[in-house]
Amino acid sequence: KNTPPVDDKLVVKNYFNGTGFNRWRNIYGTGEVNQVQADIRAGHQRTIATVLEWLPLDLNGITIADVGCGTGSLTLPLAHRGAQVRASDISLKMVQEAKNQALSQRDFQSQFIDQKIEFLVADLEELRGTYHTVICLDVLIHYPAQHAQKMLQHLASCATHRLIFSFAPKTLFYSALKKVGSLFPGASKATRAYLHPGPQMTQTITALGWNLRQCTQIKSRFYFACLLDFVRPNDS
Ligand code: SAM
Repeated sequence: KNTPPVDDKLVVKNYFNGTGFNRWRNIYGTGEVNQVQADIRAGHQRTIATVLEWLPLDLNGITIADVGCGTGSLTLPLAHRGAQVRASDISLKMVQEAKNQALSQRDFQSQFIDQKIEFLVADLEELRGTYHTVICLDVLIHYPAQHAQKMLQHLASCATHRLIFSFAPKTLFYSALKKVGSLFPGASKATRAYLHPGPQMTQTITALGWNLRQCTQIKSRFYFACLLDFVRPNDS
C-alpha cells in the first residue's frame, strides 16, 4: 500500500489559507483580474456549467457532497436547485468565503442556507457517510497520481449513485506545464500542480464496478480539465 506523503496536504491547506486564498477568490469572483486569470475564470465557469447541465434541474431530495468546494461556485447553484449539499474544504478561509457568498445572495435567506447547505472544514479523505452524488472539481490537480487515485476510491465509496470529478490531463503535458507556471506565479515553491493520465483515472473507478456515463475536456489557454461522470451500474 502506498502511503501518501503527508506534506502535500499541509502545503495545499496552507496555500489555500494564505496566498492562494486571495488569488482563487479573485479568479472565482467577479472583480477585475488579469488576462491569465480571466482565462482561467472562463474555463472554470465552463466546468461548473457543464456539471450543472449534467445534473437534473430539480435536485430536491438529492444529497450531494461537494468536496473541495472552494468559494462555493458549484455548491450554491446546487442548493438553489433543491439539493441537500455538504460543502467541505480543507481550507477554513475557503469555507468562510463560501458561506459569505451564500449569505450575500439576496434570495438566499440564512435559514435556507442552514437547511440546504452544511459547510465543513474537512479533508476530503475524512468524508464519512453516503451521498447520492459526490462531486470533486479541480482539486485532484494538487495531488500526485497515486494519492489522487486513493482519494477517488474513497470518494466512490461515499457515493451511492454518481461520482463526478475533474483533473488536469497528462496528455496535454506541455501546454499544461505552461499552465503550471501561470497558475502559481511566484508561488511555485508553495504548491505544485500534478497532471494525471486519463485512462488511469478512469480505470480507478471502473475497477470498482462503476460505469463512465460521459466525459468531456474543457480547454482554454491556461485552463485544462478532464471532466468525468460515473454512475453505479444499477443507476445507469
Ligand atoms: N471545487 C471548487 C471549484 O471548482 O470552484 C474549488 C477548486 S480550488 C482550485 C481547489 C480547492 O480544493 C481549494 O479550495 C482547496 O482548499 C481544496 N482542497 C485541496 N485539497 C483538499 C483536500 N484534501 N480536502 C478538501 N479540500 C481540498
